[in-house]
Amino acid sequence: MDQTRSRALFAEALRCIPGGVNSPVRAFGSVGGTPPFIERGAGARLWDVDGNEYLDFVASWGPLILGHAYPPVIRRLEEALGKGTSFGAPVAVELALAQAICRLVPSVEKIRLVSSGTEATMSAIRLARGFTGRRKILKFEGCYHGHADAFLVKAGSGVATLGIPGCPGIPAEVSGLTLTVPYNDAAAVADMVRREAADLACVIVEPVAANMGVVPPADGFLPFLREITAAHGILLVFDEVITGFRLGLGGAQTHYGVTPDLTTLGKIIGGGLPVGAYGGRSDVMAHVAPEGPVYQAGTLSGNPLAVTAGLATLEALEQMERDEGLYARLARLGDHLADGIRRDLERLNLRLTLNTAGSMATLFFTDGAVRDFASAARSDTQRYGRYFWEMLRRGIYLAPSQFEACFVSAVHTEADLELFLRANYEALKVAFEK
Ligand code: PMP
Repeated sequence: MDQTRSRALFAEALRCIPGGVNSPVRAFGSVGGTPPFIERGAGARLWDVDGNEYLDFVASWGPLILGHAYPPVIRRLEEALGKGTSFGAPVAVELALAQAICRLVPSVEKIRLVSSGTEATMSAIRLARGFTGRRKILKFEGCYHGHADAFLVKAGSGVATLGIPGCPGIPAEVSGLTLTVPYNDAAAVADMVRREAADLACVIVEPVAANMGVVPPADGFLPFLREITAAHGILLVFDEVITGFRLGLGGAQTHYGVTPDLTTLGKIIGGGLPVGAYGGRSDVMAHVAPEGPVYQAGTLSGNPLAVTAGLATLEALEQMERDEGLYARLARLGDHLADGIRRDLERLNLRLTLNTAGSMATLFFTDGAVRDFASAARSDTQRYGRYFWEMLRRGIYLAPSQFEACFVSAVHTEADLELFLRANYEALKVAFEK
């Protein structure tokens, strides 16, 4: 695999960008080697600057459920582009996106658009604190909610990948207000709530964890969170930045039938451009400025290009769901991939753990069940690194970290999945050779 141009670009990037990248996991630290610089994408495929072609299962870390350069989205963007790029004033299309989300995500009665998932979660906990008058938040070990100060405590994603225990620059007075317990551990939640309820503003959770690899909620876990938070006047925040419009049009909350007080969104609702959002109960959202006193703002919030891409994406998803049952098809593709991987594991006599949820999956390089961060962390990440490179060399683009999700998108065909599986068998075989 020729990496001449990527290597040259990365060497230059290292001189002017910390680690050569604008988001840490992209640097390939945990798998080694040089990240390919991407030149373009179309459908399920990517091409790097050296001309290598890949079948993409990262989807820009989740947003591109319709694949790269999806023509209806690109067309709408081209139309919008000619009208100007930013006004800092209300535009009809941001309203249309807000209305579409309120209509599709049942618990969202009112919504505020921002420009990233981090802004969404950061603003949601400020609102939870402002609404309840309480200071603390409870999150789960291995869940990732963006990089705001309050969340970099036992966080997943890049924080877990790099093995960063805490983060310099975040005062203990701030991180001390973030309580953590293991994911899927109802007893630990109950215990923490018993002790801390009076000062606990919210519990924030990824309803399907996807930042320690994919870890679905145990039976009854989400309903339990709903019950115990409601009983103590604690807000329940579902961070659906990944699961929103991924598990279904109504997100994980519809899939599991549990209604949070607040929901954070990102990724798919921007269709590949920067959009995030937080929304929920209108009595809570009424506390957001200028309707209420909890301040939050953004120069580029509701940016006309970004919301155009988001709206075009949601409209396409709705149309496909109506026409062909998109999410059932995505789940079938996910199952097809999972069945194939399990077959490969059997043929190779390997005991690894595969977790799935709809169109998301993670193959953990450990043989025990993975239901929380401690069990995910037992994975052999070095072996994952070998597997990752063997897949990349065979043209399959996966996340350069064990603690991420593999995404199947609407443009993957069964033939694409067969290509994945052919590579998978070979890659696993090589990765486990002594
Ligand atoms: N929440 C979750 C569940 C996420 O997966 C992420 C990003 N992967 C974020 C929040 C932060 O979003 P962003 O990177 O857009 O700031």
